[in-house]
Amino acid sequence: MGVMRKFLNWYGRLGPSHGKTLPPYEHVVQVGDPTLRKVSELVPIPSIKSESVQKVIKKLECVLDKYGSLGMSAPQIGVNMRIFVMKHTNKQISYTPKEIVKSRGMSAVPFTVFINPKLKVIDYTKVVHSEGCESVQGYLAEVPRYREVEVTGYNSEGEITSKIFKDWPARIAQHEIDHLDGKLYIDRMDRKTFSCTCWEEVNLSKGKLVIPFHPE
Ligand SMILES: [Zn+2]
Repeated sequence: MGVMRKFLNWYGRLGPSHGKTLPPYEHVVQVGDPTLRKVSELVPIPSIKSESVQKVIKKLECVLDKYGSLGMSAPQIGVNMRIFVMKHTNKQISYTPKEIVKSRGMSAVPFTVFINPKLKVIDYTKVVHSEGCESVQGYLAEVPRYREVEVTGYNSEGEITSKIFKDWPARIAQHEIDHLDGKLYIDRMDRKTFSCTCWEEVNLSKGKLVIPFHPE
């Protein structure tokens, strides 16, 4: 708390204009940012091909790649539009331990854009796995999610698109659609499992560790 206050004071002294950027950001906003708690606005269909909406989609892809995430929603880059992207490459899966790939049902998802997505649950079975979020940097928790869902929305060309996702990809889609409704995984998690991803390193370093809010 004390250290944080010191940091805030330091940042405040730099002046209100220091480092100010306008959304869509090239960084991911963190929990506490009011943008993450708003219900995002529907994108008018004729405006999907507009420069401003296309810019948001491009930025989402760019930030997704920069952070190496599996999904990214517009509110996370400061924009309250109902847009999210997802991608899980074979390369990312190859770096993941085989038992995790199997137990979580991970499978490759090509880069996919959903605008004004609607979620339909196909299999109401709840599956519990460890989940994190770029907007709650440095933490994980066990979160129950439906096993299979169908997402219907518009793609970046403004065409209607519909996809069925099962297991891990279904989790990604549910997590991202929650963002569009101002919800975070911490609202759904088993609270006793909420953990700092680096709690062991905190002890090894005698507490001299910082959580980075940007990719390495
Ligand atoms: Zn998230």
